[in-house]
Amino acid sequence: MKIPLVDLSAQYGSIKPEVDAAIQRVISVSGFIGGAEVAGFEREFASYCGVPFCAGVGNGTDALFLALKALGIGPGDEVVTVALTFIATAEAVTAAGAAPVFVDVREDTLLMNPDLLARALTPRTKAVIPVHLYGQVCEMDGILDFAKKHDLAVIEDAAQAHGAGWNGKRAGGFGNAACFSFYPGKNLGAMGDAGAVVGNDPGLIEKVRMLANHGRREKYTHNVPGYNSRMDAIQAAVLREKLKHLDRWNSARRRLAGLYIDGLAGADVRLQTVPEGGDPVWHLFVIRCRERDRLREKLKSAGFETGVHYPLPLHLQPAYLGKVPGGGSLPITEKAAGEVLSLPMYPELEEDAVARICGVIRDA
Ligand SMILES: *Cc1c(COP(=O)(O)O)cnc(C)c1O
Repeated sequence: MKIPLVDLSAQYGSIKPEVDAAIQRVISVSGFIGGAEVAGFEREFASYCGVPFCAGVGNGTDALFLALKALGIGPGDEVVTVALTFIATAEAVTAAGAAPVFVDVREDTLLMNPDLLARALTPRTKAVIPVHLYGQVCEMDGILDFAKKHDLAVIEDAAQAHGAGWNGKRAGGFGNAACFSFYPGKNLGAMGDAGAVVGNDPGLIEKVRMLANHGRREKYTHNVPGYNSRMDAIQAAVLREKLKHLDRWNSARRRLAGLYIDGLAGADVRLQTVPEGGDPVWHLFVIRCRERDRLREKLKSAGFETGVHYPLPLHLQPAYLGKVPGGGSLPITEKAAGEVLSLPMYPELEEDAVARICGVIRDA
C-alpha cells in the first residue's frame, strides 16, 4: 500500500456531487471569465480572511506580481524576503522589475526573522514579503513595526496559509496586501490555476483588479497598461464549494499534526516550533533530520511518499545568486535546506498511516 504526500482525488471523492453541480452551474450560464461566481467567491474569501476586499486573479504568482505593481514597486526598488520559499516569491519581484533581497529565517520556526530586516535595509528598499511557510504565520508584530518605521509596504505571501491564525487574526489580515494561491495542492485548491489578493485598502485591491483585467474598469476604456490574469468562473465556483469545507479540512490537518508531534516524541528529528499565539494550518508537515536522504529512502521503501520544501534556497539558485545583503550566506536557511523533509499531510490521511510513518522514523 502506498501513501502519497497529498491525495487530491480523496478530497474530490468526498465532495463530488457539490463540485460537479458547481461546474455545471457555470457551464449552463456560459459565463466563463469573471461574473457572479468570481464576485461571490471574492466576497466569501475576503470575509473568511477577515478583511473587506479581495480580487481574484489567475494564480498565486500573479497575485504577488500584481500586488507589487499596484503598490507602485518597480525598477530600482528592492523587496526584502526569505530564500526558504517557492521560487514564485522572488519571480514576482523580478517580474515587477524590482530586485529581491534575501534574509535568513529563524532557527526554530524556519520563518522570516524580523531582527535581520535592518541588515537588508537600503535607500532602495520599498517592501517586505513575509512568507507564511508550511501554513504558519510569520512573527508579524516585528515585521510590521519595522515596516512602519521605515515606510515600507508589507505583502504577505499566504499561498500556504489559508486560514492560519496568529494572535486571533487570520493570514491575510496583517499586511497592506496578502496574496493567496489556489494551486490544486494548497489547503484551498482549485481544479486548475487561480489566485487572489486580499486586503483592507479598497483602492489597492481595485487597482489589482484593474491591472489583472487589461488595465480597465469598463469594457472599452483602458486606464493603465495592464495584464490578463483573471480568475475563471469555473475555478471560482469550485472554490466557493470547497471554501465551505476549509475549516473542517484545516481541523483534520491540525489533528494529524498533533498525532505526528506525539508519535515523533523521542525520535532524532526536529519539528517546526509553533510560537505562543500561532495557529498553523499545516499545509506541509515538515521535520528536520541530519540524515534526511537516508530517512527519505527508508520511508519510500516502506511505501510512504515524502517531499523536500525546498532543497535549493533561492539565493543559491542560478537565477538569483548573490542577492544577500553584503554578499554573505544565509546559514540557517542553507542548513535547513539539507535537513527538511515533508511527510504525507492531507485532511483525508488516515490516523493509522501517521502512526506507521512515525514508527518507521523512530526505527530509523
Ligand atoms: C504556491 C506558492 C506560490 C505561487 O502560487 P502559484 O499559484 O503556483 O503561482 C507562491 N508562494 C508560495 C510560498 C507558494 O507555495
